[in-house]
Amino acid sequence: MYRKGVIEEVEEVSENLRLFRIRHRVSADPGQYVLIWAPNIGEAPFSISDLYEDVFELLIARKGRVTGYLFERKPNDTIRFRGPYGRGFSIIKGKVMLIAGGYGVAPFPLLMRKLREVGSKADVFLGFKDRSSVIELKSLKDMAERIVITTEDGSIGVKGVITDVIPNSGYDLAYICGRESMAYEILRKIKMDAEVSLERIMRCGLGICGSCALNGFRVCVDGPVFRGRDLLMCEEFGKFWRGMNGLREPI
Ligand SMILES: Cc1cc2nc3c(=O)[nH]c(=O)nc-3n(C[C@H](O)[C@H](O)[C@H](O)COP(=O)(O)OP(=O)(O)OC[C@H]3O[C@@H](n4cnc5c(N)ncnc54)[C@H](O)[C@@H]3O)c2cc1C
Repeated sequence: MYRKGVIEEVEEVSENLRLFRIRHRVSADPGQYVLIWAPNIGEAPFSISDLYEDVFELLIARKGRVTGYLFERKPNDTIRFRGPYGRGFSIIKGKVMLIAGGYGVAPFPLLMRKLREVGSKADVFLGFKDRSSVIELKSLKDMAERIVITTEDGSIGVKGVITDVIPNSGYDLAYICGRESMAYEILRKIKMDAEVSLERIMRCGLGICGSCALNGFRVCVDGPVFRGRDLLMCEEFGKFWRGMNGLREPI
């Protein structure tokens, strides 16, 4: 059931953020995710950040036990994973805006490459807490028409949060990835089509267990990427999710 990939390279992007290059041939749409298994610990989902012929990349922020396990892995170690799963972003030809907060930027390199392949032009808006949490990805820089960075303390880029600086209109599509409360605010502000990648507890990844249920959607298979207008119809969106015990709790 698990596929085995070999870690080819681990790049330290910042103290708590690493880019893992894993040797294994996978095919995935931007926004799809894999479930990584940490033996005797558990599983957690991670977006495919980019992929090449027989290598895929994950951009991982250290958080708890699964990411802690991954941070201890070295080149040539084997990791076990399932997927890619879920529905990713759609690729359109036009003028688009990519918006992320924190490690929400993870799926953007592959998304950006696919958008460039069809001739789209993309502006990128990234929000972070402070200078030490800023994630700079060279591949994004090379492909974006422009990148706007905000930090809450103004230590780099524009002082404030991402919702302060994004335009309300003027793009064919906005791609959003980050905290659900951020996505909720953005969708209420902008007047254009949008697609949002949601983060939920995803146990089976197959649409069976219901851990990620959101008003009739199963985020693991119907998402994680949804059309903004569908999310705005969901009473739970931006307000509630299901915790580790499956019960509805405030976000
Ligand atoms: C679709 C999707 C894509 C994601 N992409 C990225 C990414 O590219 N980079 C990144 O850094 N993070 C990503 N995340 C978030 C990442 O899955 C969480 O930060 C996860 O909590 C890390 O596990 P942990 O054990 O280190 O942390 P903890 O929060 O300590 O988790 C404790 C335990 O809870 C379980 N768990 C935690 N979160 C989840 C979850 N969402 N679903 C199922 N079980 C869970 C795991 O078994 C874990 O051991 C993504 C989440 C989703 C839903």
